[in-house]
Amino acid sequence: MKQPQVEIYDTTLRDGSQGEGVNFSVADKLRIAEKLDAFGVHYIEGGWPGSNPKDIEFFAQAKKRKFKNARLAAFGSTRKKGVAVELDDQVRLLLDAATPVVTIYGKTSLLHVTEILRCTPEENLAMIGDTVRHLKDHGRFVIYDAEHAFDGYKLDADYAIATWQAAEKAGADFVVLCDTNGGCLPAEIAAITKTAFGKLNCKIGIHTHDDSGVAVANALAALDAGAVQVQGTVNGYGERTGNCNLISVIPLVHFKQGKTCVPAKSLPKLRELSLFVDEVANIRHNPRLPWVGAAAFAHKGGTHVNAIQKLAASYEHINPEAVGNARNILISDLAGRSNIVMKAQSLGFKLGNDTPELRQILDVIKQREHDGYEYEAAEGSLSLLIRAALRQQAAPRFEIETYHVSMRRDRKESICEATVRVRVGDKLHHEVAEGDGPVNALDQALRKALVKSFPQLKQVVLTDYKVRILDRKAAATAGPEAQGTAAKTRVLITSGDGRREWGTVGLSENIIEASLQALVDAMEFALLKK
Ligand SMILES: [Zn+2]
Repeated sequence: MKQPQVEIYDTTLRDGSQGEGVNFSVADKLRIAEKLDAFGVHYIEGGWPGSNPKDIEFFAQAKKRKFKNARLAAFGSTRKKGVAVELDDQVRLLLDAATPVVTIYGKTSLLHVTEILRCTPEENLAMIGDTVRHLKDHGRFVIYDAEHAFDGYKLDADYAIATWQAAEKAGADFVVLCDTNGGCLPAEIAAITKTAFGKLNCKIGIHTHDDSGVAVANALAALDAGAVQVQGTVNGYGERTGNCNLISVIPLVHFKQGKTCVPAKSLPKLRELSLFVDEVANIRHNPRLPWVGAAAFAHKGGTHVNAIQKLAASYEHINPEAVGNARNILISDLAGRSNIVMKAQSLGFKLGNDTPELRQILDVIKQREHDGYEYEAAEGSLSLLIRAALRQQAAPRFEIETYHVSMRRDRKESICEATVRVRVGDKLHHEVAEGDGPVNALDQALRKALVKSFPQLKQVVLTDYKVRILDRKAAATAGPEAQGTAAKTRVLITSGDGRREWGTVGLSENIIEASLQALVDAMEFALLKK
């Protein structure tokens, strides 16, 4: 692909995971990384190996994967003061992560150098230079994140520039200016970025936080002033009020600034990416998100609706389908249709707008999503559903005849036990297993029973399990008679076989029943794979 005018650097898995209520397992991170790669972002920052073992594990797993579009980055800091860079453990872990890109942050602000780091201004410059050089000597593409770049510049411009030049002189490929505290305004971001542009020969990037509600505006201002990389997170996840939201930045750069960034064919998948990451993070999608929210193109006022019917552009700033959204999510068929076609194609189905079964697939999905199912992160269940509609060869059949789950507690511990009776052809397998909880016990028993007929399931493990209670109103089906029924539970299960992960979904008023549905889908999907 031709070098884009603006590169997208995603830090959902690192800065984004600092956000309140955001907690990714290693399996979650791998799934999100694969999704981001398929979407076409240019860099994926996977984590900080020096800060936690989960991130070390992520990089160990990621090493075995092939990324088509994105380059993986490990994040860390400059060496410690008074320690030779070769002997710095945190820097060693960055190299151990074996990523093509390493991003390190260092101090721009004299205040932070003297009061927080408590070292001399010269030592800070040496820490930046030594670390960048060391990483370059080990063949890495090095991105230098200048922490407090704007606040530091305002405090002492000469020193701030000296820190950026120290990184550049040592060979940094990028100097990224960070509005770490999120307190700057677009005009100052533009002016300072412009100054940096005049003082540096390497490329410049921008990293902003949304504490003042202008992170996206600040990123755009920096792009106008010479920056060519934006760092941010999907849906604006991040500490405090969050990071710059890439789900807004990407269409702004593409449609409004008219610059190339991610592949044009990815733009209609923007809403899907946004929903997917929320679903994996187990966070309710915000209907008021610009571009991709359910309300972003919903017209309520009578005159607007009337005008929209006459001329779509009259009250809309772009065509909603350009970002995978719809004028009114519930009644728009057209957008639903092309979304499903795109999703099905990415799952390997040969499906087009003229496939006769498309109508039926669409109806089933719509009905099920209305009931409370959610397929954004459940591609396993979605695949099974599409296969059934296309009457393609189904997975080897198995049927759960009966199951039983019980729990007992003595003085020391609680024990869950599950029994399943599964029929495969004319064979009947009856198994009992204990587990950490009822779902784990059920998973163990089902697995034990199935492995006898399908040894390939031995490699499959349940890697993540999430539960969402849907409120009554959202879960209630069509008529008023359904009101007052118990709240429904949606279960999302992630399974893996060491090479890839897939999600499956179950829905019921009963959490065990919902879990079993998702487990059965997970096994069926595993049996389909070669
Ligand atoms: Zn940050």
